[in-house]
Amino acid sequence: MNNLKRIDPRRPFTITAEGLKRITLGMTGVAGSMEFAAHDSTGSAHREHAKPRRTTAAAQRVLLVAAHADRGALDDHARQTLAAAALIADTTTEVLLLVFGEFTGDAAALGADKLIELPMFDRRVFAPLDELNALAACVAAYAPAHIFLPDNATGDGDLGRRYAAAANASVATHVVEIDAAHVAAYIQTNTAFAVRALPEVILLAPNAVDPKLPFVGAGERVVWRFDGEPASPKSIVRDLGIEEIDAAQLALEEADFIVSAGNGVSDVPAFERLAATLGAAIGASRVAVDDGKFTRDKQIGATGKTVEASVYIAFGISGAVQHLQGIKDCRHVIAVNLDASAPIAKRANLTVIADAQETIAALNEAAEAARTARGTGAALLNSKAVAEGALA
Ligand SMILES: Cc1cc2nc3c(=O)[nH]c(=O)nc-3n(C[C@H](O)[C@H](O)[C@H](O)COP(=O)(O)OP(=O)(O)OC[C@H]3O[C@@H](n4cnc5c(N)ncnc54)[C@H](O)[C@@H]3O)c2cc1C
Repeated sequence: MNNLKRIDPRRPFTITAEGLKRITLGMTGVAGSMEFAAHDSTGSAHREHAKPRRTTAAAQRVLLVAAHADRGALDDHARQTLAAAALIADTTTEVLLLVFGEFTGDAAALGADKLIELPMFDRRVFAPLDELNALAACVAAYAPAHIFLPDNATGDGDLGRRYAAAANASVATHVVEIDAAHVAAYIQTNTAFAVRALPEVILLAPNAVDPKLPFVGAGERVVWRFDGEPASPKSIVRDLGIEEIDAAQLALEEADFIVSAGNGVSDVPAFERLAATLGAAIGASRVAVDDGKFTRDKQIGATGKTVEASVYIAFGISGAVQHLQGIKDCRHVIAVNLDASAPIAKRANLTVIADAQETIAALNEAAEAARTARGTGAALLNSKAVAEGALA
């Protein structure tokens, strides 16, 4: 049997609390070149319980981390960015987290010493200029040495670039390596590796940093009012609102809530009715597609679509490796399967051992009952949030 670990040629290292972890064939080791100023009063690297405070010294310098929250939480990429700042902060540096949107998470556990929440910048509101003003106002108020944002395509990467341009600040994008002295990124279509001293704005690539921290931050909530200028009628940006579209029309790659059918689903009309009731997009396994139950564009997996839904419910899908490849970036996976030992159960956050048809019928009935009780068809539209809440 081959026990050798595989190398990701594009990401041969991860930045952790213990330094830079280089992954080589058959072993993992810590490269000595990157030492973080991770301060653990006990001297131990990792502790499961009662983690020590990173620092209790008076702050003389600030590192600012800005990120959007999604339904009250930071995603993995934002957590990694916050961890990067906390890992390079020294004892007299505080890490300030600026959250766009409502935040209900534990800022201290994520490494933040201070938290500013701007709940008015909900993800559903498109306000790039106001967000830029808010970031600039926060920078003016706290004068951070460096500003960190996740380099994503959902608002933060854009905000960081626009801030750097507006403030004429130095910036590094797609940063894959960072310590207290330098950042590095691949350039020239990944043929060269560029290294420089820490710029003012740091946009961190996903999965460059291990967000597990051996310490906690102070997690102090700061009351900071941002009284943004009302958007000028001449503003170059207008928020036209969110257009509600039929989930079935949504490209699977963009869907946040997917119900997916496999070989174990025989009552396709009931399954489609459930998807419509829940407002979920429809996916399918290759076997279900090959059987002619669904069109080829619904296929999820290695030879189908790769999806990133917050909630993915797999009805009667075994979870073959080719299918799992397509759902590797899904946040919460719920499996409904007769077989508790099906591979999907290992990937799923919640597995319901039950018949797919019976479960679908029960959910349709529950939706019907809720609809009748409330006199509205929207009764179950929040079911994704409920499912997520149950799994969180
Ligand atoms: C090169 C290659 C590429 C491939 N690409 C893909 C791809 O992109 N996407 C993909 O999906 N597959 C792909 N496959 C196929 C893949 O290997 C599996 O064969 C396929 O995913 C299985 O589909 P399934 O889980 O729906 O069916 P099955 O393997 O038949 O599994 C059905 C599951 O449903 C459960 N079940 C049965 N009856 C019920 C019931 N009444 N209630 C609840 N549960 C029930 C069973 O316990 C089982 O776990 C590929 C294969 C190859 C070789």
